Amino acid sequence: MTDLACGGRNFKTPLPKREASPALTITLNSSGADPLAAKPIPRGYNALFACMERATQYELRLASRMSRLGTETAFEVLNKARALEREGKEIIHLEIGEPDFSTPENIIDAAVEALHRGWTHYGPSAGLPELRQTIAGYISQTRGVKVTSDEVVVVPGGKPIIFFTVLALVDEGDEVIYPNPGFPIYQSMVDYMGGSAVPIRLREDRDFSLDVDELASLITDHTKLIILNSPHNPTGGVLNRQEIHDIADAIGDRNVMVLSDEIYSRLVFEGEHYSIMSVPGFKDRTILLDGFSKTYAMTGWRMGYGVMRSDLATHITRLMTNSNSCTASFTQVAGVEAIRGDQSSVDGMRAEFQRRRDVFVAGLNRIKGFSCRMPKGAFYVFPNITKTGWKSKMLADALLEGAGVACLSGTAFGDFGEGYLRFSVANSLENLNKALERINNWTKRNL
Ligand code: PMP
Repeated sequence: MTDLACGGRNFKTPLPKREASPALTITLNSSGADPLAAKPIPRGYNALFACMERATQYELRLASRMSRLGTETAFEVLNKARALEREGKEIIHLEIGEPDFSTPENIIDAAVEALHRGWTHYGPSAGLPELRQTIAGYISQTRGVKVTSDEVVVVPGGKPIIFFTVLALVDEGDEVIYPNPGFPIYQSMVDYMGGSAVPIRLREDRDFSLDVDELASLITDHTKLIILNSPHNPTGGVLNRQEIHDIADAIGDRNVMVLSDEIYSRLVFEGEHYSIMSVPGFKDRTILLDGFSKTYAMTGWRMGYGVMRSDLATHITRLMTNSNSCTASFTQVAGVEAIRGDQSSVDGMRAEFQRRRDVFVAGLNRIKGFSCRMPKGAFYVFPNITKTGWKSKMLADALLEGAGVACLSGTAFGDFGEGYLRFSVANSLENLNKALERINNWTKRNL
């Protein structure tokens, strides 16, 4: 089994070394041949779809919308890196966006106790009343708006809120403005539903904040939804209070909903986290997405939530009933402990990410062809690599194969990610330093 190095940071109890999940062996087709090997791979979303092998003589008659569904490249790069590891190569994993820390002990204890106490049954589709109440209190306090528990829907991870929001709001032809570069699932879901995904470019010279005049010019009578994400994946950009107010002014009193993805809200290094939900007049038009994955190192638990007006919450709950029935009950009991319990682990993890960010950004800026601004939040760094003369995807592939460093091409986050790479600093300082040395040596040999 591959050993993914842990942060080596001791919060309450020593963090155990994390083991990677056992590798899965997947037989691609009956002949054992790699079905992708001989086929030209078309560009875009259809690539995977078009290359899939038929499993039987019966043609698979997929719904046409499946050809519009995108993906998250991080998981593909992880698989590629794991394949190289099986060949004996040693890879430093800076591709996947999850805290390398273990879930804090008090949360694990609460889950184990909940299992023993019988929290092993279905619960309400919208979430356990106590957790919804706890989240309502937390959001009221941190966003400065009065939120009640009927405005909270608990779901398995932050991602389902993106999925359900787009399912519930976007009709064919509706326009959805989304950040590009940005989390790829936004565009994927809008395309899937037959909406029109309208990118707003995040520019490095604006510190990856969005240009409000450009936003204003993109809003039309067909705009149904605007997606914001701060702190931002992949750039680490943070929208400050003034910028959020400017965005709110640009939207004005239009009947446009805002999906505010705040999954990294507790990972702000400079300044404060500020939500558009806090702007007067915006509470009814905001769907706030937050969760447990990043804040409490709970990615594998699958628990997140949306906060929204109660009428919309009823419909999102109907989507939960139709898909998952409910979020796992014992994890929700642990979720109450996560929010109400000791927060020192959260502060400890944030401080550690900041330390790593500082070291990694400084190191990248010493490497030929790389220039990297200091991200203000999340745990990603997004260096500009245009001076290397390489395209992003080529460079990411070359660093994986030639330097043993797994990272993502900026284009994994949309066309405007060309010219950039994304590194996750959710790895130990020792490994980050090793990665810097490897990249530096590789550039000396190849640039
Ligand atoms: N939004 C953003 C911006 C993310 O980066 C992620 C996770 N990478 C999510 C949502 C989804 O979070 P979860 O794992 O809780 O589904």
